[in-house]
Amino acid sequence: MKGEMERMEDVVIVGAGIAGLATAVALKRVGVRALVLERSQGIRATGAALTLFPNAWLALDALGVSHRLTRSYDPLFKGSVTNINTGDVQQVLFSEQGIRPVHRKALLEALAEELPTDSIRFSSKLAAIESQEQGGGASIAVVHLEDGTTIKSKVLIGCDGVHSVVARWLGLAEPLHSGRSAVRSLAVFPQGHRFKHEVQQYVDQAGKRAAFIPLNDREFYWFLTCKGENMTGEPEQIQREVLEKYADNFPSIYLDVVRHADLSTISWAPLMFRHPWRIIFGNLNKGNITVAGDAMHPMTPELGQGGGSSLEDAVVLGRHIGNSVIKNGGLFVEGDMARAIDDYVKERRWRAASLVTGSYLSGWIQLGGAKWWVRFLRDRLFYKYIFGWLGGLARYNCGNLPAVSSGKED
Ligand SMILES: Cc1cc2nc3c(=O)[nH]c(=O)nc-3n(C[C@H](O)[C@H](O)[C@H](O)COP(=O)(O)OP(=O)(O)OC[C@H]3O[C@@H](n4cnc5c(N)ncnc54)[C@H](O)[C@@H]3O)c2cc1C
Repeated sequence: MKGEMERMEDVVIVGAGIAGLATAVALKRVGVRALVLERSQGIRATGAALTLFPNAWLALDALGVSHRLTRSYDPLFKGSVTNINTGDVQQVLFSEQGIRPVHRKALLEALAEELPTDSIRFSSKLAAIESQEQGGGASIAVVHLEDGTTIKSKVLIGCDGVHSVVARWLGLAEPLHSGRSAVRSLAVFPQGHRFKHEVQQYVDQAGKRAAFIPLNDREFYWFLTCKGENMTGEPEQIQREVLEKYADNFPSIYLDVVRHADLSTISWAPLMFRHPWRIIFGNLNKGNITVAGDAMHPMTPELGQGGGSSLEDAVVLGRHIGNSVIKNGGLFVEGDMARAIDDYVKERRWRAASLVTGSYLSGWIQLGGAKWWVRFLRDRLFYKYIFGWLGGLARYNCGNLPAVSSGKED
């Protein structure tokens, strides 16, 4: 396989994360085969788990995948936020559909299982891209892999995450560090746990936010977000630092969850985002080349929308490419793809920018900080009024995929 030359594909997707796999599933459902290139040797589930809001489940319904997950994960309808310094506890209610945390691995595998086995090419790191004019305004993407392989493609979709090579090629501004970082992991209680089936969150005056969220009767997803810090080192060291330095003033119930960490899943990440105006005014596509997921709209995690919006991207891309196939009598017409991608970008630009903005503001308020009025906003107004309003962003329905076989659009 290594060092191959000049294969021609209809669609190449770079990255087998949530966005890349979901986009390949969406395309498969509209009758278009995509080759997914992934630099790792297998599916990469860094981050342990994530919470999916109603918009993500609607997108998973459209992709035909949600049933694979809903039977293993029960929805959560409420949670509490405890201020470590004052002891105040606020209740948080989620929408009537609730939210569902899922293991990342389960989500990625559920998507990958929908795809033909030869559609994901692992150990395939994208190194460079060229665009070759074909005459008549059409162009093809030429993808160069680190192993020397060259692949030509009529459409190229960069789902290669926050440090996307494709986004850089498009000229999008580099993502910025929000000044916040997060540690995440699973916690396992082999004999079962005794906690409520609710999200338990903690905030303090020093700009820390932490939570634990039950995945099932034995496992939790827990995280801690703090300002500016960089944690490196072995998993044991990260766990020790959380217990002894970052969360030493947190209640014993939280520390107990951290002590039960499955150290093989612990990871630390700087929280990155792209300025919303770079998304509104930037080049999200050039002809038949575009980006989806974090490659387009890296956002801080405080609304839990990065993964959900990646699933939305996949459905919207699938819809526009599928509609082009329908319009052209079931054929994948190269010359029509730039228009389909343009329509995708038009539909996603403002939605992505509003999620990045909402997430950043949500993080900024929830971490509180030194200024009294920010703390007042968080402790008196945010969870009662603003969180529900921002939560409206999570009730979005990105729509369905067209039924290609019957030749009918949804
Ligand atoms: C602390 C934290 C908590 C979060 N919590 C939530 C949450 O609760 N809910 C939620 O919806 N979202 C959450 N998110 C966001 C979510 O994790 C991301 O938005 C989501 O993983 C983006 O998926 P992606 O496929 O775009 O990118 P990624 O998951 O980063 O996948 C990119 C893939 O591309 C591959 N790749 C990269 N470069 C190359 C290359 N050059 N060649 C080939 N392959 C390449 C990578 O190996 C990777 O597999 C959270 C994020 C963080 C940091």
